Amino acid sequence: MRRIARLLTVVFLFGILVGCGVSEPTMAEHVFFAMDTIVTLRLSYEKSDGTRRSTEKMEQLFMQAEAQVGEIERALSRTVADSDTARLNADEAGLSSPGAQFVDVLSRALEIAEQTDGAFSPTLGMLTTLWNVNGGGPVPTDASRLYAMAHTDYHTLTIEADRVTKSDSRVQVDLGGIAKGYAVESLCAWLEEQGIARGIVSLGGNVGVFGEKTDGSLYKIGITDPRDSDAVMGYVYIAGGTVSVSGDYERYFEEDGVRYHHILDPETGCPADSGLSSVAVLSSDGALADALSTALFVMGTSEALAYYEAHPGTFEAVLITTDKEIVLTRGLRYNEDFIPSGGGYTLSSITEELS
Ligand code: ADP
Ligand code: MG
Repeated sequence: MRRIARLLTVVFLFGILVGCGVSEPTMAEHVFFAMDTIVTLRLSYEKSDGTRRSTEKMEQLFMQAEAQVGEIERALSRTVADSDTARLNADEAGLSSPGAQFVDVLSRALEIAEQTDGAFSPTLGMLTTLWNVNGGGPVPTDASRLYAMAHTDYHTLTIEADRVTKSDSRVQVDLGGIAKGYAVESLCAWLEEQGIARGIVSLGGNVGVFGEKTDGSLYKIGITDPRDSDAVMGYVYIAGGTVSVSGDYERYFEEDGVRYHHILDPETGCPADSGLSSVAVLSSDGALADALSTALFVMGTSEALAYYEAHPGTFEAVLITTDKEIVLTRGLRYNEDFIPSGGGYTLSSITEELS
């Protein structure tokens, strides 16, 4: 329950009350549990053609949206017995006739693995199982960790026409670092197609927004303070797209006074110890935002900034270090795109565009 409360502190504020004493609500909210986290939908009754949806129609839409997330979970989750991921993991050679969603997510995951030089890796399944962070550990032995690491190379997977092939029979796929961002992105696109004028979809640490707000202002999204997960340490402002956050406070266990979190460094086989405590990535591509928040967390500040320079125009990021420093990428302006709200953080690097 505590984890759920923590996840919910990735708040989003909508702030569109048109006039006082308005009897009809402008937004409808629906909350449910899926993909091992809380999903919140906040959607306008207003349609993109200016007409209004009835409450019954909104409820129908919420049910359909819930079914959509269920479908994504059934395709991608390694813990759902006959998902494509589970079937691929259970077979020594590969998977025939994979579903379109699975192929879409896996191919994007492999592409990002290539681009990030393996900092993001969708084939860490043996390691994530071994660490058992959600189940509370324990810390694995060196021998078992090294054995698992020998079976985590993403190059051993090949996507062919109507087949995914494994060249390492033991390799295990884990799409946990990209699936939620993908779900947010798909859901926002689907809701927009249904003619919803504007809305917010929040799923774990991933928040997607679409449609212009009535007053033309930007969407304000709170970033959880990694050292006080009940508090917000700042807000980012976006017109559309997704904000994904990966932090060492989200899922972890403690042993002998040491905290072991869920973001693993594929090079060490251990929780990433890169000097970062949280990374928020802003992108129009939700799957990319999710995967990159994990990858940049693994890289650490200087490598993450070099990656940013090498991929212009695809994302922006807020990096929060364990020393309570905030590093913004060049496209974010302090006090405009990112507004700190306390918590004793300092801004560590300001480029000319930020000042
Ligand atoms: P959350 O799942 O809490 O939203 P992330 O988006 O950061 O957090 O994803 C972390 C999850 O991704 C882990 O629980 C694990 O399943 C998987 N994972 C851990 N390390 C990596 C990594 N280096 N690359 C890809 N996936 C990872
Ligand atoms: Mg992620």
